[in-house]
Amino acid sequence: MSSSVDVAVVGAGAAGIAAARSLQAAGISHIVLEAAGRIGGRALTDHSLGYPVDLGCTWLHSADRNPLADGDPAQYDCDRAPPRLFLDDDARWATDPEQALHADYIAACEAAIEAAAAQGKDPSVADIVPANPRFRRHFDWWCGAYTSVPPQELSSQDWCRYVDTRRNWTVLGGFGTHIIQRARGLPIRRETPVLAIDRRGKAVRLVTPAGNLEAKAVILTAGTEALKRIRFLPALPSTTQAAIHRLPLGRANKVALRFDRVDPEWGPGRSALLSVRFGRFGRPLAESFVEASIARALEPEGERGQAAFVVDQLCSMYGNHLRSRVQAARASRWGNTPWIWGAYSAMTPGGGDARADLARPVEDRLFFAGEATHPTFCTAAHGAWLSGERAAAEAMRALRPAR
Ligand SMILES: Cc1cc2nc3c(=O)[nH]c(=O)nc-3n(C[C@H](O)[C@H](O)[C@H](O)COP(=O)(O)OP(=O)(O)OC[C@H]3O[C@@H](n4cnc5c(N)ncnc54)[C@H](O)[C@@H]3O)c2cc1C
Repeated sequence: MSSSVDVAVVGAGAAGIAAARSLQAAGISHIVLEAAGRIGGRALTDHSLGYPVDLGCTWLHSADRNPLADGDPAQYDCDRAPPRLFLDDDARWATDPEQALHADYIAACEAAIEAAAAQGKDPSVADIVPANPRFRRHFDWWCGAYTSVPPQELSSQDWCRYVDTRRNWTVLGGFGTHIIQRARGLPIRRETPVLAIDRRGKAVRLVTPAGNLEAKAVILTAGTEALKRIRFLPALPSTTQAAIHRLPLGRANKVALRFDRVDPEWGPGRSALLSVRFGRFGRPLAESFVEASIARALEPEGERGQAAFVVDQLCSMYGNHLRSRVQAARASRWGNTPWIWGAYSAMTPGGGDARADLARPVEDRLFFAGEATHPTFCTAAHGAWLSGERAAAEAMRALRPAR
């Protein structure tokens, strides 16, 4: 490892790759230090089922405003048939009128959260949403999918911050691959965790098991759980520390099943426990999503336990004949993945403007990026990407000699 660079980037997920590309385009000397043995972070396309399966980010959200939604349109699937609602308590699919009542309730919940946030208050989402004995569990599922935490752990201001134009695309070759392809030619050093960052001297010193590196500026893209594990000398300002703690990562996991073939009657579905889609891009797969409290409870059971849970749920929704058709399974465990330790950031109630606080540079030498720092596309891969570009621009401005 070279002993000094202008800019060191910590982490090679979407934000780190975007930052490094900006630095490379500007001819700034830099290196990316990645703790894991692979790049991409929470962007991960797995091929072990014989097809590309995204175990992390899957949808290019707000595709009409998403910088990653480029290139050949044929590589995207824009068709998103709405999932049918399954009523777990009654063990049956909702009728059309019930489905409409459910949609009205979710809209009423969202309106109540927005009204409370507009008054400048920041109670938890759970404190605001109207009671509804039939559909409240389904709202909790929606909140978990949207934010990776249950409503009682989520700031209502943070709910309102996220912008979604409701154009969602998936990628033929996998969103994870789509992102890591952009890292080609970048100077990335894998298996090099940054353990400490010492800015007491003229240069910033990054301590790694492979030796130390000096940099004029550092762009930190590690997620908030990973940031808690880096030692800073001197300690980070109290506002930055508070922001990190107010933006914990929740839980969300993907469980993919491979079948001999997908039954045409298996349409997209959603219960109070999970969502599922079958046969995307004509593949014999089910892609299921479990989040928040359910993901938290299931993760300790490992991949097999998570897959068994999903198969049981899908059997109750689509019929027991589905079980004998499952050939193989794959599941993520983001809460247990070293250097990530969670799904996406969710601000705690009363957390103020933690995302802006985290994004604020420290002494014009430490620049924070990553999904948690984006003001409106927080939680998502395109927010991470844009934040990496923003942090690189800030670092380059700071490096310019004063006139
Ligand atoms: C199950 C799931 C589903 C999702 N679905 C979607 C979706 O459909 N659409 C969407 O847009 N987003 C989705 N997301 C969110 C999206 O994946 C993330 O927002 C995005 O990938 C985060 O990128 P990042 O660069 O901010 O962080 P990360 O991807 O976490 O990258 C940070 C990198 O830093 C490294 N690192 C950590 N600590 C250190 C250290 N000390 N030294 C060196 N390296 C370190 C990590 O190994 C990691 O590679 C999903 C996430 C999950 C978990």
